[in-house]
Order: sequence, then structure tokens, then C-alpha cells
Amino acid sequence: MEELSKLAVATWQRTLKSSIRCSGVGLHTGDKITMELHPAAASTGIVFRRSDVTSTNRDVPARYDHVGSTDMCTMLANADGVSVSTVEHLMAALSGCEVDNVLVCLDGPEVPIMDGSAEPFVFLIECAGTIELDEPRQAIQILHPVVVRDGESFARLEPADGFTIEFGIDFDSAAIGQQSFIMDVSPDAFKTEISRARTFGFLHEVEALRNAGLGQGGSLDNVIVVDGDEVMNSDGLRFCNEFVRHKVLDCIGDMYLAGGPLIGKFSGVRAGHSLHHKLLETLFAEDTAWTTIAMNRRMLVDSWCPEAISATA
Ligand SMILES: [Zn+2]
Repeated sequence: MEELSKLAVATWQRTLKSSIRCSGVGLHTGDKITMELHPAAASTGIVFRRSDVTSTNRDVPARYDHVGSTDMCTMLANADGVSVSTVEHLMAALSGCEVDNVLVCLDGPEVPIMDGSAEPFVFLIECAGTIELDEPRQAIQILHPVVVRDGESFARLEPADGFTIEFGIDFDSAAIGQQSFIMDVSPDAFKTEISRARTFGFLHEVEALRNAGLGQGGSLDNVIVVDGDEVMNSDGLRFCNEFVRHKVLDCIGDMYLAGGPLIGKFSGVRAGHSLHHKLLETLFAEDTAWTTIAMNRRMLVDSWCPEAISATA
């Protein structure tokens, strides 16, 4: 226990060590988009900037109170209507890699879809490297349960020692069926278990999206496409339960819109971007349901990395 108390020191906010860029197509516009990630000062948070917009108000903070739409993806918007779509996979990578502060510059209206997972963003962050800043990480601790429902779907946050996610899905397709996944979220677990899971859609939905002028950049290179009971991608799946893993990925990205790491347990069944957003709105509307606390290594060791206790004892 003496060793444990020595570990009770603050963990510090992080940003990127250097700037880095990538290019790819936008899932909905089909346009080629260049994204740059830049280091940012402590307590800046994650901020998107539309470099193609001439308005002086072209920055959009990545926070739940700037969510403009949750139709098919999570879209953020500022008061002048400047928006950024499909932020969730990049947000998941920033959360999973514990990056607190970064300026994300885009020359178009959406984050590139890359391969449909968060792995290319984790690779970018690792290539840029991360550094500690002089401010402690502030976590949002859940103090009592909050739940939101929509028919048979629900999403809940409740008190827990670390950040845990339990997710269930149920699709009327033999390719997916019922899948569930539970995990304690840590950088290693995110990278190995979640980051590679790709987004998915049904062929009939893809065709409807295309007809509506959306999904123009979608292809078998960046979406798992399910036709009836079959996966159409010739290389198959990266995990037998890649679908629920991707739902966990989306959830991690959407929950990072809280404005910092969560200390609590998320449970969701058939949930998605809309319920995730409603859950954060409900949480922050109840002052007694949450508090902010400075994170410390003791929390990390106690709840996220039990083997580290014996390693340091
Ligand atoms: Zn997704």
C-alpha cells in the first residue's frame, strides 16, 4: 500500500509533439480532404478549424454542446453554422491515445473516413508523438446513474472506478446477429481490441444514402457492407465480432465530447450517436450527477491496470 500511495500523483494533460497531416476522402461528400493535427496549449481541448471557410468564426470545439446533428455520424457545428462531420473515429483515437489538446485543421466539411476505423488516426498520433503539459488531466466523474431510452434502445452512465464500456447489438442478419462486448478502456486495450474495427452498413442503406446524395465516398475500402446475411468485402472481417467492436469505438469517440475522460461505466444496447449525445446532455443537465476531478496515477493503477500493482509492489 505504501507503494500505491507513492503513485497518487497527478497525470498531466498531453498534446502532440509535432504537427502531422493526412489526406483521404470524406465518407459523405466523396471529396478529397486534407487534415492537419497541430499541438495545442493546456486546457484548449480538441478544437476543429475549417481552413476552407473565410468566416472569422471557423473554429468548432469538440464538445457535446456543439453537436449539430447525429444523423448517420456525429456532426459538430458552431453558432455561425460552420460544421464538421464524421468526427467520431478521430475523437475515439484521441481519447484512446489520451490526447487532451489538439487543433484539427480541415480543408473540407468532414474528417476523412480513411479505412473506416480509428487505426490510421492512432498511427498518425503515434508518428507525431505526444508530450506532457503543465496542467493535470481533468476527468468527469459520474456520481449517480443517468439513463436515456428510445424504444428498445438505451444508454446509461453510472459510477465506477475507471472507464468501462459494455455494449450490446442485435441485428436481424446472420452476418451480425447478437453481439456484446465489455472492456476497461485503456490505451493498450483501445489500440489492440477496438481501433481496427471498421464502420459498417447494409447494402440497401448504402444505395439509399447514395440516392440522397450522401455516402459518395463510401466503398468496400472503408465500410463493411452487409447484404442480407453476407459480408460483401472480399477480405472478410478483422474480428468475428467487428460490428460490436466498432459500436464501442463510436461510443468512445462520442463520449470524449464530454470534454475530457470519463470515470464511470457506460452501458448501451442498440445505442448510437443520437442516444450517446442525449446521454451527455442529460448528464450535464443534472449538476448532482457528475463532478470534475484531477486524475492521478493511483486511479489508473487501481482501476485500469491491476497488474501494475504487483509490478511495482
Ligand atoms: Zn463509426
